[in-house]
Amino acid sequence: MKVDHEVVVVGAGFSGLCVGIRLREKGVRDFVILDAADGVGGVWRHNTYPGVAVDIPSTTYCYSFEPNPAWTRSFAPGAEVRAYAEHCADKYRLRSHLRLGTKVERAVFDEGADVWRVHTDRGEVVARFLIAAVGPLDQPKNPDIPGIETFAGKVVHTARWDHGHELRGERVAVIGTGASGLQVIPEIAPVAAHLDVYQRTPIWVFPKVDFAIPRGVRALFRAVPPVQWLARAVTTVASEVIMVLGIVHYSRVPFLVRATEMICRAHLRRQVPDRRLRRALTPRYGFGCKRPSFSNRYFPTFMRDDVELVTDRIERITEHAIVTRDGREREIDTLVLATGFKTLEIGAMPAFPVVGLGGVELGAYWDEHRYQTYEGVASPLAPNFWLMNGPYTVTGASWFSIIEAGSTHIVRCVAEARRRRAVRTVVRRPPHDDFTARMRDRMKGTILAQPSCARSNSYYFDRHGDAPYVRPQSGFYVQRRSRTFDLDDYEFTV
Ligand code: NAP
Repeated sequence: MKVDHEVVVVGAGFSGLCVGIRLREKGVRDFVILDAADGVGGVWRHNTYPGVAVDIPSTTYCYSFEPNPAWTRSFAPGAEVRAYAEHCADKYRLRSHLRLGTKVERAVFDEGADVWRVHTDRGEVVARFLIAAVGPLDQPKNPDIPGIETFAGKVVHTARWDHGHELRGERVAVIGTGASGLQVIPEIAPVAAHLDVYQRTPIWVFPKVDFAIPRGVRALFRAVPPVQWLARAVTTVASEVIMVLGIVHYSRVPFLVRATEMICRAHLRRQVPDRRLRRALTPRYGFGCKRPSFSNRYFPTFMRDDVELVTDRIERITEHAIVTRDGREREIDTLVLATGFKTLEIGAMPAFPVVGLGGVELGAYWDEHRYQTYEGVASPLAPNFWLMNGPYTVTGASWFSIIEAGSTHIVRCVAEARRRRAVRTVVRRPPHDDFTARMRDRMKGTILAQPSCARSNSYYFDRHGDAPYVRPQSGFYVQRRSRTFDLDDYEFTV
């Protein structure tokens, strides 16, 4: 069967770029990277709201093989991350592989020909291998609040910011106090005439060690790369240890997490003298049940006279106002939705319908039968298919360690299939089931098993009460595993 391309990669964010880099390293040249956007960078292309920045140290937030001496701050602003994505696309010669402005609508495995038929808004692309490299925080989620569609003012989601809209002098409401809300709220407050922040669940906030990286240090990083590798190693090991001890091995060292909560509470006390406000901003669930963040500017914003923290539930939205359950109506001009993303639901995991063996759609199957994978990347229902950032993947120091592990695993499989001239490569059921069972079992000792997580509204959990967003193993282990897993866990059919 003639294919259009040997490999189709969906997504030109850092995951898709990494897969492309690895494919080229292995000598695979016949591949395309499809993306609906008009450029590379994925979430960092879409999230341009004021204040957007990484919230783990920049030195760690890059590929291990491509340290970036250009970061200007310890927590780099989003524009620099976008520039880094462009740089990687150029340096690793991925431009000719990009097919931008191409939205994948559905992919169907042709069992007779052992190829994927990838349906896009620009027609069908036939490929032997399909790799979904769409990040799990790609599809903005709008709140299902009665009347929201009747609102006559401006509505903007943080992940689709409208830079043409001026907030100066406006009455603004922000719904949502996750990592995005926490970054955008301190930026809006000084320009708006008035800001209402609607908080449903408070977020744990850690002090941020945020500083400009001196020009001299950047020059040193550029001139002597091993210095930057060392800096990267330090921030990576520190983030990794905190993450693994605090989250994965929580049941052995719960006092570490309690100490972290104390640091966050002290941070709040230092910044917010008002006791009632402090109580409203204090989470009622354990640290780690949902994504915490770093900020030195978030809490002080609530001390301003022109900012109100609203904790009453939103009842409805009218043409000009938000009405809370206590009957109060607060008029606004602009509504900012910092309401996050679709994650563990049909249409989001995977990001587009993937129809595998027997006509089974992976997302619907997982939604009904619980999320399950082999090593976070493969399913026995979908031959010649892998997904980056699938169920049970998020772990370690940063997205980049996850991305590198995923792409190493996947490209090893593609290379092996080519070596054996296999037309069908599919993970065997026993290793898949074994991995999934191990993940569910290990989850019992993690921070996500705290009973208080039930109050956290965390997107790490799905409707079954599982937390398949997270892989309860260390990032270092996952990296090693991606290089050493047994290729015979897959069946290669020639
Ligand atoms: P999020 O963490 O899912 O937060 C969404 C917020 O909206 C929550 O506070 C949620 O309240 C609230 N919300 C949703 N629907 C609502 C409703 N109907 N009524 C009232 N409140 C509602 O989303 P996010 O802040 O965009 O962050 C998502 C993830 O993106 C982060 O966890 C992080 O992984 C990533 N991120 C990273 C960075 C960075 O690295 N710099 C920055 C931003 C985001 P509940 O909590 O009660 O549901």
